[in-house]
Amino acid sequence: MSADDTAGRRAQLLSNLRTVRERIDTACRAEGRRPTEITLIAVTKFFPASDVRLLAELGVHDIGENRDQEAREKVRDPSLEGLSLTMHFIGQVQTNKCASVVSYADAIHAVDRPKLVAALDRAAASAGRRPKVLVQVGLDDEPGRGGVSPAAAGRLADAVRQAASLELAGVMAVAPLGGDPDAAFARLRTVADGIRAAHPGATWLSAGMSGDLEAAIRHGATHLRVGSAILGSRPALR
Ligand SMILES: *Cc1c(COP(=O)(O)O)cnc(C)c1O
Repeated sequence: MSADDTAGRRAQLLSNLRTVRERIDTACRAEGRRPTEITLIAVTKFFPASDVRLLAELGVHDIGENRDQEAREKVRDPSLEGLSLTMHFIGQVQTNKCASVVSYADAIHAVDRPKLVAALDRAAASAGRRPKVLVQVGLDDEPGRGGVSPAAAGRLADAVRQAASLELAGVMAVAPLGGDPDAAFARLRTVADGIRAAHPGATWLSAGMSGDLEAAIRHGATHLRVGSAILGSRPALR
């Protein structure tokens, strides 16, 4: 990219970030929450490492990715050397990708089955890593979009807690398509409270994207995963 292009992109990201931060501040104020309780994760899937670098320069060090190959290549990009980033893997994890994902992910958000817990634990142990893990709760009544049922989430959290090389951080969810995010996130909070009662360290509640971050903040989100509102729109097909 030319210097002009870089400056233009930086200005665009800065302006988008300001808008998102204002939305967060307003939602927090309405709820009596402090914006500092909230971690903004910029979801950079589909966007180049140069954007990750600009975001870091603008003060955003939490980066989210949802596909292993893309994430792995991006985090190893030489232009990111020396930045202290926290990498959040927010996509579905295939068991055969665990070794790769634990090699760079500091937090893995979408853990939804005991087999995956076991595979991540083995991979983390052999890599000498101990990633944070979030239990993905399915708020959809139709299966297939990922997430353990609210009724089974506690048991899965117990399994993560017992895995020596994983750190149980909390819960994560995606609001159902076309549904009411407030109703979904209220359900998520109940699950999160139950898990926190058993495991006080499980403080993270990862919920809220570009379209529904206010609802997530109303229901206790601690981590927002925001892509398009910061980076711009992605190609529709992936
Ligand atoms: C892409 C993605 C996001 C960000 O979505 P936007 O609507 O672009 O903010 C958040 N969470 C997950 C799991 C994603 O895959």
